[in-house]
Amino acid sequence: MNMASWISTGHLPGAAVVSDLVEQAHRRFQAVREGAVASYIPALAAADPELFAIAVASTGGQVFEAGEAGAAFSIQSLSKPFLYALICEAIGEREARDKLGVNSTGLPFNSVQAVERAEDGLSNPMVNAGAIAATSLAPGESTEEKWAFIAAGFSRFAGRPLVVDEEVYASELATNRRNLGIANLLEEQGGLWFDPEASTDLYTRQCALSVTTHDLALMAATLANGGRHPRSGEQVVAAPICRAVLAVMVTAGLYETSGDWIYDIGLPGKSGVSGGMITVAPGKGGLATYSPPLDGAGNSVRGQLTAAFLSERLGLHLLASEPVV
Ligand code: GLN
Repeated sequence: MNMASWISTGHLPGAAVVSDLVEQAHRRFQAVREGAVASYIPALAAADPELFAIAVASTGGQVFEAGEAGAAFSIQSLSKPFLYALICEAIGEREARDKLGVNSTGLPFNSVQAVERAEDGLSNPMVNAGAIAATSLAPGESTEEKWAFIAAGFSRFAGRPLVVDEEVYASELATNRRNLGIANLLEEQGGLWFDPEASTDLYTRQCALSVTTHDLALMAATLANGGRHPRSGEQVVAAPICRAVLAVMVTAGLYETSGDWIYDIGLPGKSGVSGGMITVAPGKGGLATYSPPLDGAGNSVRGQLTAAFLSERLGLHLLASEPVV
């Protein structure tokens, strides 16, 4: 092995084992009743708390599913790692990192305080402030040009054309005063590169992109596969960009509970308020779950339990080792 390649090795267990564990996880956690469906975006409040889907996609393109893996929901914050990847690809990873920051804020995803506390307004692209700033860096002079770039990039990650859930988009746009506040503050601190209102609109629109658990598993597997979609074969972003994106997911993907996440699951992960979660096992595959009830930090309860169970049973924890005998 080339020791300078930074490439972790290994693969998922065989298909029968993965498919059995996915089924087991679904049976085991379907009965969990903790958590509450997000209600601050009116259109999300109606989500069925019983919905529960799991999908694992290998970097070879095999997909293992349980539950309603074809049910659609808005991508919400799961868009953030993919947006960051697209911006890195467009303007260079170094410049994106310098302009957006990559350190955990230790504060909730929609924190205004985090922006104010950092003199340069830098946070990281996994929280709202950093993601709104990232949308402002999308190539294009107008909102529509920037949107065309974002929508095309997400569709390449999914391996199919994604469309916006117009009801969720309208519902959040009508109520997102806090995100607009964050964008205005960023603008004042020199941390935004497009109009605050238009940047918030673009951010809100990409959060409303409609995806399924199946899509998300393949999107996560693309990040696990050096940026190449395991089924379409398209190289969506370059391999070093995946490494950068996964690093920020490790430190900030679950906001203020990112420490607990890496401790328990040992893999880059990302949560979103609609109840989706993705977990990436570099070189091996992607895990996606959908279950709307969330914990206090806005992370899916069943999603976290599933990720912990599968990380352990599939042998994926990046930090675990055994003494040589
Ligand atoms: N669109 C949501 C918001 O800005 C995304 C947040 C999330 O999924 N955590 O509040």
